[in-house]
Amino acid sequence: EFNIDDLSNEPRIKVVIRKRPVNKKEQAKSDVDIIEVKTGQSVIVKEMKQKVDLTKYVEEHLFNFDHAFGENCTNEEVYMTCVRPIVTAAFQRARVTCFAYGQTGSGKTHTMLGSVANRVPGMYVLASHDIFTALQRPQFSHLQIFVSFYEIYCGKLFDLLNDRQILHPREDGKQNINIIGLMEQRITNVDQLLKIIEFGMSARVTAQNSANTDSSRSHAILQIQLKEQNNVYGKISFIDLAGSERGADVIDQNKQTRKDGAEINKSLLALKECIRALDQGKNYTPFRGSKLTLVLKDSFTGNCRTVMIGNISPCQSSSEHTLNTLRYADRVK
Ligand code: ADP
Ligand code: MG
Repeated sequence: EFNIDDLSNEPRIKVVIRKRPVNKKEQAKSDVDIIEVKTGQSVIVKEMKQKVDLTKYVEEHLFNFDHAFGENCTNEEVYMTCVRPIVTAAFQRARVTCFAYGQTGSGKTHTMLGSVANRVPGMYVLASHDIFTALQRPQFSHLQIFVSFYEIYCGKLFDLLNDRQILHPREDGKQNINIIGLMEQRITNVDQLLKIIEFGMSARVTAQNSANTDSSRSHAILQIQLKEQNNVYGKISFIDLAGSERGADVIDQNKQTRKDGAEINKSLLALKECIRALDQGKNYTPFRGSKLTLVLKDSFTGNCRTVMIGNISPCQSSSEHTLNTLRYADRVK
């Protein structure tokens, strides 16, 4: 039961980890699960290593987070535990953000979008159910809901709801960042949101095939605004980040890839700095460090909340990327 009055006596930043199940491909290769999730907060990585004399040993790495979800947890559990509280905060005029961070294939899109084929709802849809439930209350019935969906690829913004039109963020006289021409579609029910998401996702896929882009190299941003008259009352941003391993592509032979990698690296570093600044209550946020952090400026200042979901793959073959994700998440807060 969604209770909007649950005053979010919650920290401004929450960092959680989600481990995905071992998949068939990994099973077939007898890849081993090296991740143990304990007591809902700890993650232990049992990394298999080899000495120079080829004897094998296990190196254990322990991390603690606000929450750690094992491979059996559902999108609903993730939502209830860490995303619903920020949706609630948006009804208390906050600008809130939920990030999915992790290497390609670790479960970011499964968490955010869910699985359309298997009818598993992700954060987008679970949040919108709560939003429309809240709107049935007289105190919120005047709010209107608007949705935008765009991606940042190679430092450029593309509107996924408007023919991939290139967009430019601009700072106005009040130091607000506006994305000129960004499509905002009003929705009045969850089905309309589903249609919009489907439309936007297909724009991503089409570009992948025709323009030779790659969704693992772009950040997908879905923003749901609660508006009263023409003013923003609250705002919820869901960011399905570019694959974190792409940030390390800088040594790739291919020039384009190298440029993408440098750009992704820059934005993920800038993001970490902005969240840290928020956590430490600094009055300066380095949001100019990347396009990603620039467009999220309003969500890094004032009444705001952030949830970072670090998605990890369970197997030995991913141990390096998994450790990178855990270290990144660890340093965010
Ligand atoms: P990413 O977006 O990080 O690249 P995906 O979300 O596409 O990764 O996940 C890769 C694959 O693993 C997909 O087929 C997805 O359905 C599956 N998967 C990811 N997380 C889970 C999970 N928690 N439970 C079941 N399947 C999952
Ligand atoms: Mg994905």
